[in-house]
Amino acid sequence: MTTHPSNQIPFLPVELDPLNNDAEAIGSDFQRYLSYHLGRFQGCPSVYLYNALAYTIRDRLMVDWRNTWAEHLKPGTRRAYYMSLEFLIGRSLSNNLLNMELNANVKTALYNYCTSLEEVASEEPDAGLGNGGLGRLAACFMDSCASLGLPVVGYGIRYEYGMFRQRIENGYQTEEPDHWLRDGNPWEIERSEYSQRIKFGGRSESYRDAEGNTRTRWVDTEDVLAIPFDMPIAGYRNKTVNTLRLWKASATDEFNLQEFNEGDYTEAVQAKNNAEHISMVLYPNDSSENGKELRLRQQYFLASASLQDAIRIWERDHIEHDYSEFAAEHVFQMNDTHPTIAVAELMRLLIDEKHLNWEQAWEITSQCMAYTNHTLLPEALERWPVHLFEKLLPRLLEIIYEINARFLRIVSMRWPGDTDRQRRMSIIEEGAVRQVRMAWLAIVGSFSINGVAALHSELLVKDLFHDFYELWPEKFNNKTNGVTPRRWLANANQGLATLINQTIGQTWVAQLEQLEQLKPFAEPQHSAFHQAWREVKLANKQRLAQLVKAECGVDFDPHSLFDIQVKRIHEYKRQLLNILHVIHLYARIKQGRVDNWANRCVLIGGKAAPGYFMAKSIIKLINNVADLVNNDPEVGQRLKVAFIPNYRVSSMELIAPAADLSEQISTAGKEASGTGNMKFMMNGALTIGTYDGANIEILEAVGAENFFLFGLREQEVKDLRSHYRPWEIVDQDADLKSVMQLLSCGHFNSVEPGIFDPIIHSLLSSNDPWMTLADFRSYIDAQEQVAIAWQDQERWTRMSILNTASSGFFSTDRTMLEYNRDIWKLKCGEEN
Ligand SMILES: *Cc1c(COP(=O)(O)O)cnc(C)c1O
Repeated sequence: MTTHPSNQIPFLPVELDPLNNDAEAIGSDFQRYLSYHLGRFQGCPSVYLYNALAYTIRDRLMVDWRNTWAEHLKPGTRRAYYMSLEFLIGRSLSNNLLNMELNANVKTALYNYCTSLEEVASEEPDAGLGNGGLGRLAACFMDSCASLGLPVVGYGIRYEYGMFRQRIENGYQTEEPDHWLRDGNPWEIERSEYSQRIKFGGRSESYRDAEGNTRTRWVDTEDVLAIPFDMPIAGYRNKTVNTLRLWKASATDEFNLQEFNEGDYTEAVQAKNNAEHISMVLYPNDSSENGKELRLRQQYFLASASLQDAIRIWERDHIEHDYSEFAAEHVFQMNDTHPTIAVAELMRLLIDEKHLNWEQAWEITSQCMAYTNHTLLPEALERWPVHLFEKLLPRLLEIIYEINARFLRIVSMRWPGDTDRQRRMSIIEEGAVRQVRMAWLAIVGSFSINGVAALHSELLVKDLFHDFYELWPEKFNNKTNGVTPRRWLANANQGLATLINQTIGQTWVAQLEQLEQLKPFAEPQHSAFHQAWREVKLANKQRLAQLVKAECGVDFDPHSLFDIQVKRIHEYKRQLLNILHVIHLYARIKQGRVDNWANRCVLIGGKAAPGYFMAKSIIKLINNVADLVNNDPEVGQRLKVAFIPNYRVSSMELIAPAADLSEQISTAGKEASGTGNMKFMMNGALTIGTYDGANIEILEAVGAENFFLFGLREQEVKDLRSHYRPWEIVDQDADLKSVMQLLSCGHFNSVEPGIFDPIIHSLLSSNDPWMTLADFRSYIDAQEQVAIAWQDQERWTRMSILNTASSGFFSTDRTMLEYNRDIWKLKCGEEN
């Protein structure tokens, strides 16, 4: 069935000796990299120590990396490709050390350099190639797939500039470019030999081939090269190293040359720049589309490069190129609609380049594409104008039209005469500007469509995708998100990890359900364990307090309740509700109502999309409230408020372990899953949250008595919409009235009058989609319950332990096993 031509054997049978991992060998390699490779010596800036150490560690991944590839490329091995415009990776060094079990030896090796591993590791810039939850999910999936030995390759874009750096000036967000590659990236390996050519523009034409068949080709295109850069993804202590392949855009040589010969040198260089713009910058919009042409270019660039690469890899081992076997060996998981042009692109490659007929190509495509939906928010549903497709991807538009025509025939056969349904289900939205609905294309082209938490998946089939569910109920499924326990517990919270290891052993790191064994230790007789649990939390809070002092100049007392909301700033996430509570606490202090008081440090962090005016105003409001509260002697230690700038993966690694209270307060029905909620729970924080996304599953896992639930449910939000009158709620609630009065009288913006009017106006609008004031009373009451619980530290500790102990379900190991069981059907490492 499969043969290797002698010149294409993928791996030469050369044995590679594993490198020595003892402290002495690591120390001497480190020294060699520092001095002989980087040309730096003891006493140099720490960033060079980081680079030398990263190279030293990368060397030690090479043998397993090569062997893992060889395993995955064995003929007949089914592989999954995770396609995502975002991978929010963060730092790699300390995570790799944990997974490779090299921490102790590296610490010893660094001993002579008068520096700590923490100091060296903190020199690594975050790989911030994502906006928030969706991108971080992709990174957690990569870790879990490697740790489970699943043959999964990640495909993404190697943005030159990742998520912008956020600074706060006079309370306002400012954005700075994040040139994360400035000092080089020691983790990546450029593989120009696997570059792919990507077409744009031009036109499509018919021609007759040598056998007389009518075919279509895409001609007069402006081509761009896609160059792959590979990053190793080390599994947890299992000798698996998977690959994250990120594409960089580069100009081809020839069209430069043509213009060069015409004497237009600068034009030629400009063309090169245009090509390279494609992978220049990550679009900083979370949960909303922006419709820019360059963004569509990025999407097609990723889809085409990745599909061509997968085909190249497969053809190398399938000499007969018998495409009837292709679908059995491939699944492409599309992370949201961003890469879903892949449906049409795979059709184009199979038909135009591999000369399959439509039916054969469709059979393959619709058997290996799978789509994950991440949001119900209408502003996030991608639609591309048809005219943009005509200009940029004319051949793809033809294919989409044909897919749609055949699909609408199915619809009209199932529902004859139901033209309204045909209009609703058409991949092309008619109107003043005709648009391609990317989610519809994904659904029609995929065999699996999943949401990311139980409620979200239910709402998908009930509302947004209901027509499609009626047609193809078997395609729809749920895969509740998770987070990797290696990064988010074992590595981020080494104090707690050590305590857990001493108590129940360390199998939990690869089997998080084992944390259940902690449940008996929540009982009061284990007072020494409770004491140790509190001491770990206190140490983590001291560490965070130092960061808050350094970054915000605010004094957090580690003995206060650390009440934390960090996530992208978005109206649906309702940072406003949080700040209304802060203002309420402040008003209470001023009114002398300090019964049932718990001293609190409220920390809020997150980035606003640069063009999202309301989100930016919310940041300003938080900062202004913080200024007033923190400098009021009457308030003192009762309340501190800080906005932590530049929230990112590496800051979450310090924040989650130090949280007492996790704020998950989105309007019900709006947060698809949330994953920040899971990181906090794993680290022993209690959640105050709405009945939304994965909060519901967290509540079920830990029990209602260990969760502070409040607010309207999704159906109640819907039912209230038609008769929502927030000003009446204000009238009937004296506390809310005080808060709104402080806001509207300019108490927090005396030197900048009027700047919060849009916020006040939106809160009081009957059209407020987020219904913030509807949940105010319920939230305030739940926060009062938090304060009461906090006063009983023994009770709080018990609840904290139970949260960690119940968090096993929220490991991405579980999520990936479910994807594999229901969608991918790959063989795990041991089965191969
Ligand atoms: C986990 C994480 C998120 C997602 O947080 P949510 O609360 O689920 O929105 C966003 N950004 C970073 C840096 C994260 O680590």
